[in-house]
This record gives sequence, structure tokens and C-alpha cells, in this order.
Amino acid sequence: MPPHITDKIDILGILLDRVDYEKASQRVMEFLETPGAKIVVTPNAEIIMAAQKDERLKAAINGADLSLPDGIGVVLASKLLGCPLEERTTGFDLMMRLLKMAEERGYSVFLLGAKPGVAEEAARNIKKRFPGIKIAGTHHGYFDEAGEEKVVGIINEARPDLLFVAMGAPKQELFMARNRDKLNCRVAMGVGGSLDVLSGKVRRAPVLMQKAGLEWLYRLLTQPSRFRRMGALPMFLVKVIFNRRK
Ligand code: UDP
Repeated sequence: MPPHITDKIDILGILLDRVDYEKASQRVMEFLETPGAKIVVTPNAEIIMAAQKDERLKAAINGADLSLPDGIGVVLASKLLGCPLEERTTGFDLMMRLLKMAEERGYSVFLLGAKPGVAEEAARNIKKRFPGIKIAGTHHGYFDEAGEEKVVGIINEARPDLLFVAMGAPKQELFMARNRDKLNCRVAMGVGGSLDVLSGKVRRAPVLMQKAGLEWLYRLLTQPSRFRRMGALPMFLVKVIFNRRK
């Protein structure tokens, strides 16, 4: 690795770890063997843009133990900054690897997030794919801050090793940061809309589109309501170029 390239990359004040799936899984396995809850986040261009205006979100991401670059926008930005990341590491793909490892090594998982019933459906599908896995519990992601204590209590009673938090940004990052010291798990990881995909409610882009860096286009075509949100991607790249010049 050239000397100017370090194991962390700073994109608009957000720190990202330069890791591939292999290294990321290894880090999570280490976290699973050490006491205290560790936090894993996967910022994409949209989240990094949101963090520019939200100090709490920025602190939640930069305070995480592992921060993975998700999305083609972040990979392009790294190239513009002259310290290229080889690939994006999506929350969904890391989650699938971790589920496999959890099955092999006997770690239990809790699924938190999405609309009522979705986490249970996702759990059934996960069980079909990884029959030996221990699902410690599930809970939907629609509760307010007043209901949060109760949800944390439910998670803690289930004592999972791995907690997947699928409530979308910034809700999931803020939930994990706020409850870090209260959560009785080893790893809490934000996974966005992954439970919708695992339940079969939403389909992921075809692999060829994913490999071509066009997953955003597939999501735009299948969920046109995301159009406004996607405006963040070009704005993000413009901001990276502008900041680089400065
Ligand atoms: N969600 C939730 N609680 C909320 C708001 C959203 O559990 O208060 C869920 C929502 O049902 C969906 C996920 O969070 O399953 C967000 O999905 P999205 O596709 O927006 O996330 P992305 O993968 O783009 O981060």
C-alpha cells in the first residue's frame, strides 16, 4: 500500500475502514470474543451527506468500531481523493457472511427493525438457509424514544451475540450509539433495508447490475419514491471534488 494510503479513509469528515469482506468478518469475529457491545456501521453517500448537517449522526458513525464503505458513490469518492477503495462492502453482504459464521460457530442473532411481521418472516427464511442458526429474537423497528427502553429490555433478555439493526439511517445509527452501554450483546450492526430483502418483500438488484455498480439504478427503477433521496449521490460527489480543491 503506498505510504499516503492508511487503513482509514476520511470522506467529508466521516471515517471509513479500508477493509474487504474477509477482514471485516474477521474484525467482527474478534468483537464477538471481547466483552462490551461493539458497533458496526456502513455509511453510503446519502448517509455521509446527511451527517454533514447532523452532528449526532456524524458522532454516531465516527464513534463506531467498524465503519464500512457502502455504495458506489463512496468508492468513486475514494478514487477522487487519490486513495482508492477497491470495492464497496454492503451491509447486506456482510450480514450474509456473518449469518453463515454465526451458524458455524454457534453465535445467536437478534433481528430488530422493519415493519411488524417482516423480521419474523426474515427469521424464517434465514432458518431455511442456515438451519443450524440460533435466532435469539425479533422485533419490529417502529417505536419512539419512549418505547426504546422496553425494546432494549427485550433484546437484553434474549442475550444475542449479534444484533442486526434494520431501521434505516439515521435511526439505526442513533439507536446503536445511544444504547451502546445498555445493550447486552457483543456486536450491533446497522443493516438498513436488509430485513425487507430477507423477508422477500424487496428484491436486490441482479448480480450483474450490482457488479457494474448500478444497484442504485435498480433501486431507483423499482422504488421510484427514492428519487429525492438519490439526489444526494451527485451532490456528494460534487462536494468531494469541491472540498478536495479547497
Ligand atoms: N424502518 C424502521 N423503523 C423506522 C423507519 C424505517 O424499522 O422508524 C425500516 C423500514 O421499514 C425499512 C428500513 O428501516 O425496512 C429502511 O430501509 P431503506 O431501504 O430505506 O434502508 P437503506 O438500505 O436504504 O439504508
